[in-house]
Amino acid sequence: MLLKDASAFLDDFSKKSYTDIFNIRSRVEQKDWERNAITNIKEHIFQGVNKYSTTKNVLYVHIPFCATRCDYCPYYTTPYNHTLVNEYISCLKKEMNRYKNTPYLKSTTFSSVYFGGGTPSILTVEQIKEIGEHILNSFTFDSNAELSFESNPSTLTLPKIKILKSLGFNRVSLGIQTFNERLLKSMNCAHNKEKGIAVIRQLLENNFIVNADLIFGLTGQDNKDIEEDIRILSQFEGSLQVTYFPLRIAENTPLAKQLETEEELSIGAHLKHLLKIDAFIENKLSSNGFIREECPVFYHSSGASEHKYHSTETRVIGFGSSAGTLLDEAENCNFFDIYEYMKNVDSDSSTALSGIMLTQQQAMERFVLYRLLYMNRSLPNFKNLMEERFFEYYQTPLNDLYEKVLNDMLKLRFIRLNGEKIELTNRFWRILNKVKIGMPSII
Ligand code: SF4
Repeated sequence: MLLKDASAFLDDFSKKSYTDIFNIRSRVEQKDWERNAITNIKEHIFQGVNKYSTTKNVLYVHIPFCATRCDYCPYYTTPYNHTLVNEYISCLKKEMNRYKNTPYLKSTTFSSVYFGGGTPSILTVEQIKEIGEHILNSFTFDSNAELSFESNPSTLTLPKIKILKSLGFNRVSLGIQTFNERLLKSMNCAHNKEKGIAVIRQLLENNFIVNADLIFGLTGQDNKDIEEDIRILSQFEGSLQVTYFPLRIAENTPLAKQLETEEELSIGAHLKHLLKIDAFIENKLSSNGFIREECPVFYHSSGASEHKYHSTETRVIGFGSSAGTLLDEAENCNFFDIYEYMKNVDSDSSTALSGIMLTQQQAMERFVLYRLLYMNRSLPNFKNLMEERFFEYYQTPLNDLYEKVLNDMLKLRFIRLNGEKIELTNRFWRILNKVKIGMPSII
């Protein structure tokens, strides 16, 4: 089993230069996360002012509840329970109150808010209103800030759409996965094709930017199924964005266990298979007017659906269980277990499971690294785009940082050069199956 090799590699990897940036070992071994000397990074950092007070600051709120458990899901989730969710919302508000008047947050203007999960749309109308209003009244936002709410079609009702609208939310990210009934059932998803289509329509009618999350590489899914999904997506008019995730077989999920018993799982073969489908999807979507700068997101070329919160953002302040905070000075992640998170909020203790401090140099390297992993490396102007984004962030030129990070990644054998093309290696993907750092570009 190739996945098992990752443990040995991680030990070795922990001695490498990028450990501080990824903090991989901590993220893998949640039980053994080392309590850092600075146990509460937020407390520490937030005493100073934000030196990038108006440049791409994102507020992230984590809602860890779901109606059902999807077989492939690698995230920490908990079944919805009304009383528990009310208690969780009280804790979220308390965590925010603790920091909202600190010099850092008082000097920060947020360009976007992202409610992720879990399934934020599982909250009731009253709960959405309560937490939404609290956030809007506690922090400062750009006049054109993007307020984004992750949702599942099975739980996003018209009254919830209306309350989101009245609060000022302008973007909804929907876990469509596929419109194929057979595949939806096989993944244990709670919605069907009809519901998926109806919710997209309702959101577009209410002038939301809609992101449809889809998955490819599912067992039993062929190109015809994908073509049909793209055909359905292409029928909508309005601000539609498509995020096409390759199926990630994460350890300890029901899917990984099922595959383990059925066949020898080969990451190399799985990746080859994904790359082929990815090329097919890119071809189909681009002929329907979609382009991608960041993987795996396709914007419509009209620009109407472009959004502000990219997976590459590195100025993110997170609230809630398992929420990560990524800043130029530090990273920290809250407890995954919601009871542990709530207990610590209630007792005014640190909610941080782990944290690391970064130097400015490390933060800048992390910026380049994330873009190497997430951006569409096939774009002919890839390096120029990276330079532009870097300048926007830091108001200083990229200089030789790009080459430095590229060489470090080559030395670690995380990437290889194929002519002009930069490719992620199988070795890197093996690690990614262990860690929770999101889904880099596979192209
Ligand atoms: S809805 Fe999303 S977060 Fe919840 S179990 Fe399914 S994939 Fe995981």
